[in-house]
Amino acid sequence: MARVIRLEYRNVTMRFAEAGGRGVLTAVRGVSLAVRDGEVVSLIGPSGCGKSTLLNIGSGLAAPSEGAAFVDGERVAGPNAHVAFMLQKDLLLPWRTVAENVMFGVEIQGVAQAERRRRAQQLLTNFKLAEFSNHYPHQLSGGMRQRVALARTLAVDPHVLLLDEPFSAVDAQTRMVLQRDLAQTLTQAGKTALLITHDLLEAVTLSDRVLVMSARPGIIIDEIVIDMPRRDDPIARRHDAKVNGYVAQLMDRLDIGHITLEQQTAQASP
Ligand code: ADP
Ligand code: MG
Repeated sequence: MARVIRLEYRNVTMRFAEAGGRGVLTAVRGVSLAVRDGEVVSLIGPSGCGKSTLLNIGSGLAAPSEGAAFVDGERVAGPNAHVAFMLQKDLLLPWRTVAENVMFGVEIQGVAQAERRRRAQQLLTNFKLAEFSNHYPHQLSGGMRQRVALARTLAVDPHVLLLDEPFSAVDAQTRMVLQRDLAQTLTQAGKTALLITHDLLEAVTLSDRVLVMSARPGIIIDEIVIDMPRRDDPIARRHDAKVNGYVAQLMDRLDIGHITLEQQTAQASP
C-alpha cells in the first residue's frame, strides 16, 4: 500500500550569482525526489553539490530558481509549521534554560502554556534531559546541546524533519548515541525525515533509502534502498552483515577510490 508523500521536490533548479563576478553558478539542477510518510531518506554527495541548498528550499528559507518543493502536497512558499530544520550548529539561545530552549518554537506557534509544559516534560524525559531542565546551554557538552536541539526540533511536532549534518560536529562515540536517539524517536513518532550527511555509515544505518548526488551542478545519480531490519537501532544495524556492502556501494557511486584531494577541494569551494 502506497503511503502518502510528505515531502516532494519537483524539478528543482537553483542558480546563484557568482561571488565577485557576473557569472551564474548552478548549484542544483532538475532535482526531483519524494519522501513518503514515516520514511527516513539520506542525501549524500560531494561538498558543494547543493545538499544544503535543497534543504533550505524544503524549509522555505530559500526559493528555487525553477521547480518547487511541496510538503503534504502544498507548495512551500516560506517557513511552514509542518517542517522543522536542524543544523550542525545547535543554535540554542544562551540566555534560555534547556526547557525554555526546547519550547521556543512551540511558544512562537502560540500553543497554550499548560500544553507547552506537558510537552516539555515529556520530551525532556524522553531525551533524558529532565535533570538538566534548568541548566543553560553553556553548562552542557556539545553532544547534550545537540540532543536539546533535537528535542526542540521535535517539540513543534513537525510532519517533516530536515536535518543538515546534525551530528558532524560531535565526537564519534557521542554521535553514535545521538544517532540512536534520533532513530528511536523518528520510528516511535512515525516522523518523515530527509537527512544530509557526509558519513556513509550514518546514512546506511539510519535510513530506508540513500540518494546520491553528483558534483555541482548537483543532480541525483542513484538511489539505494537499504534492506535491513531495525531502522530504530543504528547500533544493531552496524552489526548487520549487509552494512559494509552498502557503504562500499556508496563509496563506488561517489568515486571515492579515484577522486584526488585537489578535486575534492575544488568541488567544495564555490
Ligand atoms: P553542500 O551543502 O552540498 O555542501 P551547498 O548547498 O551549501 O552545498 O552549496 C552549493 C553551491 O552553491 C556551492 O557552490 C555554494 O558556494 C553555492 N551557494 C550556496 N548558497 C549560496 C548563496 N546564498 N549565494 C551564492 N552561492 C551559494
Ligand atoms: Mg551543506
